[in-house]
Amino acid sequence: MDAAKIADRLRTLGGIARAAQLGAPRSALARAADRGAIERVRKGVYALGAHPDVRDAAAHGGELACAAALRVHGVWVLEEIPTLHVWLGPDGRSHPHPSCACIVHRDAGASAFGVVSIVQALVQSAACLGAESFFAAFESAWRLGLIDRADRAQVRRSLPARFRWLVDLARPDADSGLESLLRLRLRLLGIALDCQVLIRGVGVVDFLVDGRLIIEVDGRLNHDGVSLRHKDLVRDAEAAAQGYETLRFDYALVVHDWPRVQRAIRATLSRMRIASPQ
Ligand SMILES: [Zn+2]
Ligand SMILES: [Zn+2]
Repeated sequence: MDAAKIADRLRTLGGIARAAQLGAPRSALARAADRGAIERVRKGVYALGAHPDVRDAAAHGGELACAAALRVHGVWVLEEIPTLHVWLGPDGRSHPHPSCACIVHRDAGASAFGVVSIVQALVQSAACLGAESFFAAFESAWRLGLIDRADRAQVRRSLPARFRWLVDLARPDADSGLESLLRLRLRLLGIALDCQVLIRGVGVVDFLVDGRLIIEVDGRLNHDGVSLRHKDLVRDAEAAAQGYETLRFDYALVVHDWPRVQRAIRATLSRMRIASPQ
């Protein structure tokens, strides 16, 4: 079998496979790898065009999992330092990985190569990253249309019981992971809010508390220039003209400076409630 045929076969297998699946003699595989037609991931495992993280997971002996899998699926993930999460299955052999900072998952099932399903990745992420990260990822996956009703039910069933209420609280319309985080945290503080509220003359705001406090979270990594900033200012001016208060928070505030955000919201609410009790 020549290198081109081996490469074709590897592509049809999803870009990563064991030597035995390729149906070519060892010598032919070695030649194809030497010529750069395919890549040797580790002994007996070859790749071609696979995502670098998927290849790294295969080098570890398993599938890309948890937060790393969610990222490849396009889901919003709260993980400050993107880490390689690998699913090896309960008995899978772990290959040596000195000075590697990966996280190995050992949940049930037969792992192979590739990327775990979104359902499995979400379930893995709950115990691995915690309630908030799971919640934000779950809402992001739902919003992106990556999990249907059956998938959501399966995630709920498969989660440890202490996380199931998060599935019941989730909605499909959070605009960003930050919005998911903010809603979950305010809910835990006992602050009731409406989400994605249309205010005439202002537009759709992220959150409205007590019918008068607008909270907006900016999930954009960089503020996309002057025109959007101007749009925000126009919205704020119009909201103020109608008697609303507006608070805006970005990623750094919500993720790294939550106590300040919480104090700002609490102080604004109590001032508004004193000024005009409901
Ligand atoms: Zn993990
Ligand atoms: Zn590792």
